[in-house]
Amino acid sequence: MNIILLGPPGAGKGTQALRLVANHGLIQLSTGDMLRAAVAAGSEVGLKAKAVMEAGQLVSDDIVIGVVSERLDQPDTKNGVIFDGFPRTTAQAEALDKLLAEKGMTLDAVVEMQVDDELLVGRIEKRAAETGGTRADDNAETLKKRLKVYHAETAPLIDYYRGTGKLRTVDGAKSIDDVTSAISGVLA
Ligand code: ADP
Repeated sequence: MNIILLGPPGAGKGTQALRLVANHGLIQLSTGDMLRAAVAAGSEVGLKAKAVMEAGQLVSDDIVIGVVSERLDQPDTKNGVIFDGFPRTTAQAEALDKLLAEKGMTLDAVVEMQVDDELLVGRIEKRAAETGGTRADDNAETLKKRLKVYHAETAPLIDYYRGTGKLRTVDGAKSIDDVTSAISGVLA
């Protein structure tokens, strides 16, 4: 099973991805985590991505698509992948369609986690306080920029995937357990 978790920053994609890993034996492909690792390692990709990420903007499609393509060539993806934070633009969605076709993989479902902007700002402020700001992009000001970017660049993917008949929507405002149940329900 290959699925996409789609939703705004702070919607809980990472949290639910970890549960899907535990419950369904899938691997999590988080472009945010991969890019943060590249920044930490000081690799070429990391050097290009650092300032863009800190500003709450999107890393270029070419870089992100390259990172995903390489990751999909690793054998552990064969049991199924949860795409978390990717695709984030129409160009990335089209590139993913191509990559999956090339690699003989199919997309089973796109789970949209719906959460209002207001609730997200509250959540991010809480996460920033709890983690002591270990993520350079975890603050209310950057979140507002990231939400703008989400509505402009990523939200159009909801219609893109609705058109494929693979879109499933869950209410991401509910408790973590309730969202996990809702996701299991739409995937069953
Ligand atoms: P969150 O899970 O909080 O929504 P991520 O960890 O997925 O955020 O992403 C953090 C940052 O990494 C983004 O704001 C962006 O700069 C960069 N990034 C992650 N995935 C992508 C992507 N698919 N395309 C472009 N930039 C990305």
